[in-house]
Amino acid sequence: MISENYFSDNQDLQEQFNSIIDWKELVNNFEGDFDDAKEYSKSGMEELAMAPNNLEEALEFYKSSLDSLGELVGKEISPIVKEMDEEGLKFKNGKVEFPKSMITAVQKIIDAGLLPYSIGRRLGGLGLPGTVQVIMSDLISRADGALGITIGCMNLAETVERYGSEEMVKEYVPKMARGELCGAMALTEPNYGSDLPNIQTKAVQSQDGTWKLTGTKRFITHGCGFGDIPSIILTLARTGSPTSGAKGLSFFLVKSEDVEISSIEKKMGLHCSPTCEVVYENTPGILIGKQGYGLVKYSMAMMNTARLSIAAQAMGIAQAAFEEAKKYASEREQFGKTINHIPAVKRMLDFMDREVSGMRSALLEASRSIDLYHWKSERLKHGGMEDRDIRKDEQIRKWEKLAGIFTPVTKYYITEVANKIAYDALQIHGGSGYTEDYDVAKIYKDVRITNIYEGTTQLQVVGAIGGVVAGMSSTGILRGYIEEEASKISVSGEWSKNYKLFQEIVENYQNQKDTSFRDSIAFEVVESFARVWIGLLMERNANRVQGEARERRKAQFVAYNYETLAILSANQVKTKVA
Ligand SMILES: Cc1cc2nc3c(=O)[nH]c(=O)nc-3n(C[C@H](O)[C@H](O)[C@H](O)COP(=O)(O)OP(=O)(O)OC[C@H]3O[C@@H](n4cnc5c(N)ncnc54)[C@H](O)[C@@H]3O)c2cc1C
Repeated sequence: MISENYFSDNQDLQEQFNSIIDWKELVNNFEGDFDDAKEYSKSGMEELAMAPNNLEEALEFYKSSLDSLGELVGKEISPIVKEMDEEGLKFKNGKVEFPKSMITAVQKIIDAGLLPYSIGRRLGGLGLPGTVQVIMSDLISRADGALGITIGCMNLAETVERYGSEEMVKEYVPKMARGELCGAMALTEPNYGSDLPNIQTKAVQSQDGTWKLTGTKRFITHGCGFGDIPSIILTLARTGSPTSGAKGLSFFLVKSEDVEISSIEKKMGLHCSPTCEVVYENTPGILIGKQGYGLVKYSMAMMNTARLSIAAQAMGIAQAAFEEAKKYASEREQFGKTINHIPAVKRMLDFMDREVSGMRSALLEASRSIDLYHWKSERLKHGGMEDRDIRKDEQIRKWEKLAGIFTPVTKYYITEVANKIAYDALQIHGGSGYTEDYDVAKIYKDVRITNIYEGTTQLQVVGAIGGVVAGMSSTGILRGYIEEEASKISVSGEWSKNYKLFQEIVENYQNQKDTSFRDSIAFEVVESFARVWIGLLMERNANRVQGEARERRKAQFVAYNYETLAILSANQVKTKVA
C-alpha cells in the first residue's frame, strides 16, 4: 500500500476539511453551548479535559485527531496489512485467532487515544460529530477494509448509549470506551437476510423478568469478540408470535461468552474480519429499550449509522484503488510512454478522480444531514422533552427526513462506484493486477462485499424510493432542499437540464400503473436523484474553494454533469416504456 499521511496528504480531504465543510453550522449543532467544556471548568471531570471551548478549539481538536489517525494508518499500519491479510483468521475449538499484527494495529489506534470516536466524552469516548467519524472510517479503510470494520464494531456502543437503560449505559459503555469490550450486530439468520421482518430467533421472558434467546444468527461480524476482548452482541429477536412481523421484534444485549460460535466463513476478501455463525440456546439477553421497537426503531437507527460507515469503508477502499492505479499507470511503460498518457487509461483515471471527489461530497453531505438533526434532538431529549414534541421542531424534521433519503442513496452510490473503481484499477494493472503481487487484487476482493452487507443495493433503493418521490412533490422536503442549495450558487445550464430530466423521470415513475414495473424502475429514479444531487454538491463545493482547486473541481463537475445527462436521457426512456 502507498505509505503517506492518509489525511494531510489527501488533497480532496484537505479541501473538504479546510474550505468546503460548513464547520460553523456543524459545531454549533454538535457542541451546543460548549457544555462539555463548561462542565469541565466547573467539576474538573477528567473525561472532559479535551472538550473544546469554542469553534477554533473544536476544529483544532477534530483536525489533530484526523491528522494523527491519518499518520498512524497511512505510515505505520498500511505497510503490514498485506501480510496480515495473507495470514488471515484461524478457527479452533470454537475460538477465533487473529493475526498478531492485527491485534497490534488495533492496539496502536487505542494507544494513540483515537478510540472510540462515536461515544460521548462523558462516558470516556472522544465525542466526535458524525462528519468527523466518517472521515475516520474512510482513513482506516483506505489502509485495510477489515480493520475498518473492526474499528466500526468497537464503536457500536452508540446504540446502547442512545437506547439502553441508565444501568446498562453505566455498565457497558465505559468498558467499550476503555477497549475492554467490542460490539457486534446480530440481525441476519440463515433463512432471513434482506427479509429481516420475518427473522425467527426467539426471546422468552421468565417469571423473574429475565429473557432467554434461542436461535441461530449467520454472518455476524465480530460475534466472537476481538482477540481476548469479548463482544456485546446487539441481537434482534422475536418477542411476539412467529407471524408478528416487524412489530414482534425486540432488541437485546447478549454477551459473546454466553453464545456458541459454531463456525466462521471462509470468504473471498476481508480475511481478517470474522464472520461468525452464532448459536443461542436459552442464552441470557437484556432487553434494550421497549419491546416491539427492535427493528422499527433501534435496528433502523443503528443501521443508518452502520450504513454510512460502510459507505465510508467503500470510500476509503476506492481511494486506495485510485491511488494504486495512479501510481502504477505513472510507472508502467508501453509503446514508449507511461500508460497514464494513453487516452483510454487516462479516461479511467479521470473517471476515478472525479468520482472519488463526488462520492466524498455525498458522504459528507449525508453525515451533515445526520449531524444537523441528531445532536439537537439528543440535547432536547436530555433536557426532558418528549419524542413527539422534539419531532415538531422544524429543523429536526427537515434534516431527519433528508438523512432518511441521503443515507441509503449514499450507501448504494458509493459502494457501487467503489466496485467500479476497483475494477478499473485492476484493469489498469493489466495481467499484473490479476496476480497477488500487487495490492489491487486484495482491494478488488475486499470492496465486493460493500454493496451487499448492511443491506444490498437493491434494498437501499427500496429504502430510498418513497422518500425521493414524496420529497419531490410540489411542497416536498427534497425539492425544497435542492432548490435552496441551487439558489445559493449560480448553477450551470447542464445541471439545470439534468434537474429537469430528473423531474420528468419522477413523473414517469408516478404515472406507471403497473406496480411491478414501477418497482423494477425504482433503481433508475434513485440513480437519477443520486447523480443530480452529487452534481449539485460538486458545483457547490467548487464554489467554496479558490484558484487551481476551483478550476480542477469545475472541470470535474462539467464532466460529471455530461455523463449524468447521458444516463438520465437513457433513464427517461427506460422509465417511460412499460
Ligand atoms: C462478510 C459479511 C459480513 C456480514 N456482517 C453482518 C453482521 O455483522 N450482522 C448481520 O446481521 N448481518 C451481517 N451480514 C449479512 C448481510 O447483511 C446479508 O448478507 C445481506 O443483508 C443480504 O442478505 P442475504 O445474504 O440473505 O441475501 P438475500 O436477502 O437472500 O438476497 C439475495 C438477492 O436478492 C435481492 N433481494 C432480496 N430481497 C429483495 C427485495 N425485497 N427487493 C429487491 N431485491 C431483493 C438482494 O438484493 C440480493 O441481490 C454479513 C454478510 C457478510 C457476507
